[in-house]
Amino acid sequence: MASKADVMDRIVALCKRRGFIFQSSEIYGGIGGFWDYGPLGTELKRNVKDAWWNDMVRNPPAGPEGREFQMVGIDCAIIMNPKVWVASGHVGGFNDPMVDCKCCKGRFRADQLNETPCPKKPSKMAGQHSECQLTEPRAFNLMFESHAGAVRDDAAKVYLRPETAQGIFVNFRNVTDSTRVKLPLGICQQGKSFRNEINPRNYTFRSREFEQYEIEFFCHPSEAPMWYEFWRDVRHRWYVGLGLRSEKLRLREHDKEELAHYAASCADVEYDFPFGLSELEGIANRTDFDLKAHMEHSGKDLTWFDDQRKERFVPYVIEPSGGIDRSVLAFITEAYTVDENRASPEYMKFHPRLAPIKAAVFPLVAKDGLPEIAEPIVQALQKHYPCQYDAKQSIGKRYARMDEAGTPFCFTIDGQTKEDGTVTVRNRDDASQIRIDRSRCLEYLRDQLHI
Ligand code: ATP
Repeated sequence: MASKADVMDRIVALCKRRGFIFQSSEIYGGIGGFWDYGPLGTELKRNVKDAWWNDMVRNPPAGPEGREFQMVGIDCAIIMNPKVWVASGHVGGFNDPMVDCKCCKGRFRADQLNETPCPKKPSKMAGQHSECQLTEPRAFNLMFESHAGAVRDDAAKVYLRPETAQGIFVNFRNVTDSTRVKLPLGICQQGKSFRNEINPRNYTFRSREFEQYEIEFFCHPSEAPMWYEFWRDVRHRWYVGLGLRSEKLRLREHDKEELAHYAASCADVEYDFPFGLSELEGIANRTDFDLKAHMEHSGKDLTWFDDQRKERFVPYVIEPSGGIDRSVLAFITEAYTVDENRASPEYMKFHPRLAPIKAAVFPLVAKDGLPEIAEPIVQALQKHYPCQYDAKQSIGKRYARMDEAGTPFCFTIDGQTKEDGTVTVRNRDDASQIRIDRSRCLEYLRDQLHI
């Protein structure tokens, strides 16, 4: 049996060979922590993002105890007023030689440890409580810097956002003022984030440029524990529903010592990658920490008045924050299947919703009138699903190529099609074949894919 490191190497090789993922700027030797998606990878990633948008924003699951809630989308600029990052703590937290505490998740100036109380035990200084686990000092900023405008001085300094969340917080008032939404309310965003990671590793898992999908769910403080449990379970189930086996997933609730000082509760959805159990998404009850920080720094009122309760309050926030590239890597890892008895010893068993290509259409040979029958079939299917036509090479090689791409079904047009109008349908997962009437290809796909 291949070792876990071998499995990862094989997945990386398949992703390059079949155009899922390439090293960024590869012809110049690449650049650490940056990746490009090829044609198949782009479709796969788009499907993951669409599934999230559809399942969380447009068609979210029913609320707990029959509770109603609303979900809306937002798409914010990557570069924001630098004061945003002061308020969020990213500027102050990242600018000097810093140490992180793995226990409380606090980040402290290495040269000020003796003057900084430990958030867990304020009677002691950071690093002096028995449970503190300080990292080595890191002397650089995790945020990428640039300059807006012609002058490259400090006044023009801007940052590439290290998370999409802050764009949502600073637009809370805009969204509630410009729409008729009411709390409980989720504002959702997908987009690029950038972190100058000290040690990018594990393929796309820890990158310097990556995409996130984040929900900031605003609710009354008294209901935050209920919504926290709801979103934690919804997000865990979402991954299972798209094909990650539950035995490979772990929902890990943080214990009190591990919680960030502002969080009331937090859980990670972790996936068992070949390099170990690692975080796909964190779900946290962030209390009113973020809105309060922005109220303080901006001077703007970000409170909410609840008509029914006749009460004004700073909403609490439940944040499910996931990494799109990490999810894509988990779906790729899960789909990767080895079966030495097949023409394609390696194939990708993607969930049908995620498969980059849903079906392929092949004339058995590129002559005898078979392409003329096959082409209209693929043209009709392409109006509904991403499908491919291929008339080259032996049929076994064509099936193998589609297996590697993770295409659930192949329709083959052969001599018998001319006699009785039927085509062969081959199923990716068990390589079984049946015949159906050629007029039923679309209906068959719809039934099988459920999409
Ligand atoms: P980690 O502990 O792995 O660095 P984190 O706890 O700092 O992650 P968050 O700040 O909570 O991560 O970000 C939310 C999500 O964004 C993570 O769950 C992860 O999926 C994704 N993410 C964070 N950093 C990266 C990165 N460098 N590359 C890819 N995805 C990332």
